[in-house]
Amino acid sequence: MLKTEKKQRIPQLRLRVTAAAESILRAGHPWLFAESIRDQNRVGELGELAVVFDRNDRFLAVGLFDPESPIRVRILHAGKPQTINRDWWAARLEQTLARRQDLFDEGTTGFRWINGESDGWPGLVLDRYDRTLVLKLYTAAWLPRGEEIAALIAEKLRPGRMVLRLSRNIRKLAEARFAKADGEIIEGPPMDRPVVFLESGLRFEADVLRGQKTGFFLDQRENRHRVEALARGRAVLNAFSFTGGFSVCAARGGARAVTDLDLSSHALAGARRNFALNQDVAGVAGCPHEVAQADAFEWLGGNAKRKFDLIVLDPPSLAKRESERAGAIRAYARLAGLGIEHLARDGVLVACSCSAHVTAEEFFGAVRAAAAGSKRMFAELETTRQPPDHPAAFKEAEYLKAVYLHFGAASA
Ligand code: SAH
Repeated sequence: MLKTEKKQRIPQLRLRVTAAAESILRAGHPWLFAESIRDQNRVGELGELAVVFDRNDRFLAVGLFDPESPIRVRILHAGKPQTINRDWWAARLEQTLARRQDLFDEGTTGFRWINGESDGWPGLVLDRYDRTLVLKLYTAAWLPRGEEIAALIAEKLRPGRMVLRLSRNIRKLAEARFAKADGEIIEGPPMDRPVVFLESGLRFEADVLRGQKTGFFLDQRENRHRVEALARGRAVLNAFSFTGGFSVCAARGGARAVTDLDLSSHALAGARRNFALNQDVAGVAGCPHEVAQADAFEWLGGNAKRKFDLIVLDPPSLAKRESERAGAIRAYARLAGLGIEHLARDGVLVACSCSAHVTAEEFFGAVRAAAAGSKRMFAELETTRQPPDHPAAFKEAEYLKAVYLHFGAASA
């Protein structure tokens, strides 16, 4: 009681920012960096609303304040003044969900409902796996509001269960100050096994409590479907396979054989289970499935020159920070080169990158250069970006890209 009373008397947190930051926010960019703040009326608390005023003292934007983060404010709204209250959050949720309304039929029960900044929820992700929702927070600024937001989501989507996931960098704080743990079930019954969901009729499991991201790489759905369409009669190598998503799709598409290659035995065990889950699908039941646990760079660089007709390269982010960008571009080129050496005549290379610090053009350039260096004839089939449930509304949100190359014979 006392606390609320006290809070009500505290003036609104008001910020003034540099001219450059004003234009950036006006253009819709969702991040205000600490060094762009010129003036702040008082100390701000984690997760409170900060209002940014322009140099003429007019409302510019409002967002979530984080006193510890270099991204000091994550913008919720810029433009005309708005009051952020429960109705506002409910309306925003409504708009976000409406964007996915027509994207999926009942054959796909795993997809992203909320994609962070690009959906107007900076640092917050909501994924659906069948009747289980996974709410993942990437910024501590949501922690004080976690329950309010989770309640709104539960009311609207009525899930069977909701799981809270926390990015590594905020786990300590979440436990110490908010008694919230990564993998906590915040709604619904406990779970003793991974969730099984559908992607275009195929069954996959997701380890929503501990798995990478929220348990599955939902962002590769469209590339998996393209691979399925290219797979007929082909021997497929799925490098950095994780739980075999690309290979189950390739098998349904009529692949002659599929090999999953990953460093993690845990991931490969998941790949085996995903194959087992789809034995009622003719292509999957009939397709020999092999797993190889190894470092993909070493495995591909090894002497055994095994050939494949379709190779998917989907490594984890090779540039976690800007300083790793140049090295990552070289690594992508090297990886593509290694892949091409294992490609049979009439083979297809599918090279993917999820490094936000490497632009699509840099990545495509690296793969094309490796292809040119192979001295083989090749044709580019297509390039792809993020699927519609993972929109990217600003440059830093663009991370996923893939390029498809078709190779002819080795040149004489
Ligand atoms: N293609 C997958 C997602 C790949 S995630 C899908 O569509 O679901 C990246 C995977 O690369 C992880 O499973 C990780 O275990 C694996 N990995 C990381 N470094 C590796 C390496 N050096 N060699 C092989 N696999 C690696």
